[in-house]
Amino acid sequence: MGMDDDAREYHRSEPPGKIEIATTKPTNTQRDLSLAYSPGVAAPCLDIEEEPDRIFEYTAKGNLVGVVSNGSAVLGLGDIGAGASKPVMEGKGVLFKRFADIDVFDVELDITDPDAFVESVAAMEPTFGGINLEDIKAPECFEIERRLRERMDIPVFHDDQHGTAIISGAALLNALEVTGKDIADVEIVFSGAGASAIATARFYVSLGARKENITMCDSSGIITEKRAENGELNEYKRQFARDVPEGDLADAMAGADVFAGLSVGGIVSQEMVRSMAADPILFAMANPDPEITYDDAKAARDDTVIMATGRSDYPNQVNNVLGFPFLFRGALDVRATEINEEMKRAAAEALAELARQDVPDAVVKAYGDDPLQFGPEYLIPKPLDPRVLFEVAPAVAQAAMDSGAARTAVDIDEYRERLEA
Ligand code: NAP
Ligand code: MG
Repeated sequence: MGMDDDAREYHRSEPPGKIEIATTKPTNTQRDLSLAYSPGVAAPCLDIEEEPDRIFEYTAKGNLVGVVSNGSAVLGLGDIGAGASKPVMEGKGVLFKRFADIDVFDVELDITDPDAFVESVAAMEPTFGGINLEDIKAPECFEIERRLRERMDIPVFHDDQHGTAIISGAALLNALEVTGKDIADVEIVFSGAGASAIATARFYVSLGARKENITMCDSSGIITEKRAENGELNEYKRQFARDVPEGDLADAMAGADVFAGLSVGGIVSQEMVRSMAADPILFAMANPDPEITYDDAKAARDDTVIMATGRSDYPNQVNNVLGFPFLFRGALDVRATEINEEMKRAAAEALAELARQDVPDAVVKAYGDDPLQFGPEYLIPKPLDPRVLFEVAPAVAQAAMDSGAARTAVDIDEYRERLEA
């Protein structure tokens, strides 16, 4: 309860909430005000009318992200509604600002109908440089994001799907490196078939995993062809239906190399860990309680058990804050029209690469006495490591330029120096 009351006080203390708007230009004189607003403001307006891209030159659009939710799948709290989600969306804005100096308008829409939601968000395109969709429930979230990506010429990114995919994808690349396994060969089991699991499975395929090596389980067990034929599955689960006998998670995990948990806490036993292949990789990412605890997974067997969770009190925390601030930073800085697969892969690879390098003393100190050296207990960088910004944002910007998503080009070395300054 201590934490709950502290959080209430944190939010309630004057001024209420966590954000405010600040102005960036002088407003001291009559003339300043005439420039900021009428009549002076007409000149930049007319310039933009003539040449739409000048909106980036004259307004804050290029550093402004809309964090948009309808409150239908908020954290572990479920469908609490748009208003109740506002502290979360403000909080997301705090993280964007703190980690990448990106400004956010949080937009809570009291709309459950996907068509109406899509229309509303699409109409906001002039305002924002990018849209971070947040905490929208599956399966509607897939359709909403797809349609908005098609309609809009700015990045549209549902963080609950792709954030987890990218961060755990980086951890997977390094876990495979540590255990000497090839992504194209590993058998991967997913527990969960919701927003984050579907997107993560798709992303692992994009990183080189074979779809036919992926077994996905939902609350009714393995997602099989038979269940697909029986009409039990939505179209997203159906894409991962496998032609195997019906069974449960324990059946699926026997012999598997990788376990990716995006479901509920406490459903994996030590017995199930023991049934996996040599040097198993377990990403137990359910929050706040992982599918199996770090200690139980480690103690289950004598070979190398590689373990990641969503928790900050154990090694290898898969936390979205390692992704979205830097992805959007890189995307905004080349005025990208989308965040595409190439940009997401570039982010995951940059994170994986950074974890293989020596960690500066200041970062080690910020995290207590853990050695933070590349290996089973350190597969991905720590969020407070300032190098994450300098490495991931340029990698994303470069990928945007290479893949044709950038509206403007930057010189990558100069860009990195600018970020470091
Ligand atoms: P979601 O869309 O609601 O999906 C939850 C999925 O879990 C559903 O497919 C559900 O099955 C399945 N499930 C429920 N009970 C199960 C059981 N006993 N065995 C197997 N599967 C079961 O939720 P989400 O947004 O994807 O999030 C899922 C979990 O991942 C949450 O705990 C969330 O906190 C966590 N997560 C962690 C991170 C991170 O960075 N660490 C990021 C995103 C999400 P049905 O389809 O049959 O209902
Ligand atoms: Mg979220």
